[in-house]
Amino acid sequence: MARRGEEEYDYLFKVVLIGDSGVGKSNLFSRFTRNEFCLESKSTIGVEFATRTLEVEGRMVKAQIWDTAGQERYRAITSAYYRGALGALLVYDVTKPTSFENVTRWLKELRDHADANIVIMLIGNKTDLKHLRGVATEDAQSYAEKEGLSFIETSALEATNVDKAFQTILAQIYRIISKKSL
Ligand code: GDP
Repeated sequence: MARRGEEEYDYLFKVVLIGDSGVGKSNLFSRFTRNEFCLESKSTIGVEFATRTLEVEGRMVKAQIWDTAGQERYRAITSAYYRGALGALLVYDVTKPTSFENVTRWLKELRDHADANIVIMLIGNKTDLKHLRGVATEDAQSYAEKEGLSFIETSALEATNVDKAFQTILAQIYRIISKKSL
């Protein structure tokens, strides 16, 4: 078990957030790492990461979550962002069909830059905006199945399924890593 100050953990997993600008990546990030939500869209540019240590499958996992912090607007995500990432949360906005259509482009970006074994989860965010929904759950579900991704819908605003999304991807990573070290 690694020791960092008072914190102890068995594994350190890097997970990156990707997807179009405005889909809610920063808010999923802050909801999971600090339990905060921000109504204003941030204009800060530059990669940001934060960590949260939690129990996954009976082990302490330090999740290091990376947020693009707006860099995708300039298509300026560098390969360093993806380096060492074991998981990717590919986010679209359920009220914005274009953000779902662009998932294909993000998948290509991942396949070009990330490790071939990276675990990818598709996330449809903003489910609280029920009256504005523009992407059907079934369409995203079948796309995810076709591409071999796991899939979940979330609301960073209402904190719905946010912990579950992170827990699920961390557990998937753990299962792959623990198999490898057998
Ligand atoms: P990013 O550009 O992908 O990092 O997106 P942000 O996290 O900055 O969010 C963009 C906008 O969508 C902000 O105004 C957020 O307050 C809003 N937003 C993010 N998540 C949700 C959500 O789950 N529900 C609603 N209603 N708004 C959200």
